[in-house]
Amino acid sequence: MTDCIFCKIIKGEIPSSKVYEDDIVYAFLDISQTTPGHTLVVPKKHVDDIFAYSDELAANVLARLPKIARALDAAFPEMEGLNILNNNREMAYQTVFHSHWHLIPRYSQEDGFKLTFATHTGEMSAEELKQMSTNIAKHIE
Ligand code: 5GP
Ligand code: ZN
Repeated sequence: MTDCIFCKIIKGEIPSSKVYEDDIVYAFLDISQTTPGHTLVVPKKHVDDIFAYSDELAANVLARLPKIARALDAAFPEMEGLNILNNNREMAYQTVFHSHWHLIPRYSQEDGFKLTFATHTGEMSAEELKQMSTNIAKHIE
């Protein structure tokens, strides 16, 4: 896509700090460096978001994540954990509309990365949960 910043990075038209590249993905350091080593893994094929992946593209892209995760683990001995995050659409904090996977090394609870999950355990009945799961399931192709 001509106007896409990540397509331009993949083509080398915009400089980036490359971590890994093959025929399927390009991985590079996120400019924001939420924590040291914050890496983006992007499919070379332009897809806007998770909703646009074929099964094959998803399998190929996700297959690349573990070896990049292991490289981060080896490169940063003080790394204690790793969050992998994929934001989809503006409501979910996507700002670049070429799908990408954030690999964010974690060093401590105060390292600059925060994620909050509200907990509503027990607020829905078993019947309501069943209806919800059935509704989702019928849309899976
Ligand atoms: P999103 O919010 O869409 O999940 O994440 C987009 C990410 O792309 C942000 O973390 C942002 O720092 C990163 N980013 C945006 N523009 C550039 C750029 O030109 N170079 C690099 N390396 N990262 C970028
Ligand atoms: Zn693109």
